[in-house]
Amino acid sequence: MIPPWFDMVLISLIGLAVGSFLNVCISRIPEEESVVKPRSRCPRCHNLIEWYDNIPVISYIILRARCRHCREKISVQYPLVEIGFVAMLLHLYHVFAQQGLSGHILFLAVGYYGILCACLLVATVIDLFHYIIPDEINIVGILIALAGAVAFPVLVGGSTIFDGFIHSAVGISAGFVLLRMVVWIGALIFRKDAMGLGDPKFLAMIGAFLGWKQVLLVIFLSSSLGALIGGLFVILFRKNKKDTVIPYGPFLALGAYISMLYGDDLIKWYFSLVQPNMQ
Ligand SMILES: [Zn+2]
Repeated sequence: MIPPWFDMVLISLIGLAVGSFLNVCISRIPEEESVVKPRSRCPRCHNLIEWYDNIPVISYIILRARCRHCREKISVQYPLVEIGFVAMLLHLYHVFAQQGLSGHILFLAVGYYGILCACLLVATVIDLFHYIIPDEINIVGILIALAGAVAFPVLVGGSTIFDGFIHSAVGISAGFVLLRMVVWIGALIFRKDAMGLGDPKFLAMIGAFLGWKQVLLVIFLSSSLGALIGGLFVILFRKNKKDTVIPYGPFLALGAYISMLYGDDLIKWYFSLVQPNMQ
C-alpha cells in the first residue's frame, strides 16, 4: 500500500521540474527562441548555468537570488512560477480526489488538466509582460487537448473516441467564435477594437480542454473578474484612465482555472437558481 503523501511528493517533484521548463518557455517564446536548445546562460555574463545551479527553488535560495559568476540578480519570477505550478497540481489532485477520482484515472486527470494549467500559467506571465499570447502555446495546447480527449474520452465526461473528439472540437469553435463575437459587438458599441485575435485563440485552446459549456462560464467569469479587478486597479492607481492597458489573458486564465475545478458545480448551481423545479 502506497501512503498518500507519496503521491504528493511525486507530483511536487514532477511539478518543480516542469515548472522549471515553463520558465524557459516564458523567457524564450516571446523572443522566438527554441525552448529545447541551447542550455541556459546568465543573461549578463553569458556563463553556462550548471545543473547544480539550476535546481528548481533550491538553487535560487542557495545562490541567494544572484548569478554565481557576476552576481546579477535572478528574477523572483523563477521560483514563483515553479512553486505556483506545484501548488496548482496539488490543488487539482486534492479537488479531483474529493470529486471521487482515484488510482490511474486520478493521475491521468491531474496530468491532462495539469497541461492546461501549464498553458494558462505561461500565457498569463507572457501576457502580463508582453501583452501577447503566443500562438505556440495555443497550438500545443489544442493538439494535446484533442489527442487526450480522443485517447481518454473518460477525462472529458465521454465514453467513445467520437465523444472526446466532439467535446474538444466544439469547445475550440465555441471559444474562438463566441469571444470573437463579443469583441465585434464591443467594437460596434464602443467604436474601438478592444482586443486582438490572441484572446479568442487562447479561449479556443481553453475550450479544447473544457468543452463549450465551460467556455460560456469562462467568458462570464473572466469578464466579471476583469471588470472588478481591472476597475479596482484603475481606481487605486488612477493615472491616465484611458491609456491604462490591462491584458485580458490573465482573467481568461483565472476563469478557466475556476471552471476546470468547479465548473460543473457552478453550472448546476446556476440552473438550480433559474429553474428551481429542475432539481
Ligand atoms: Zn552572470
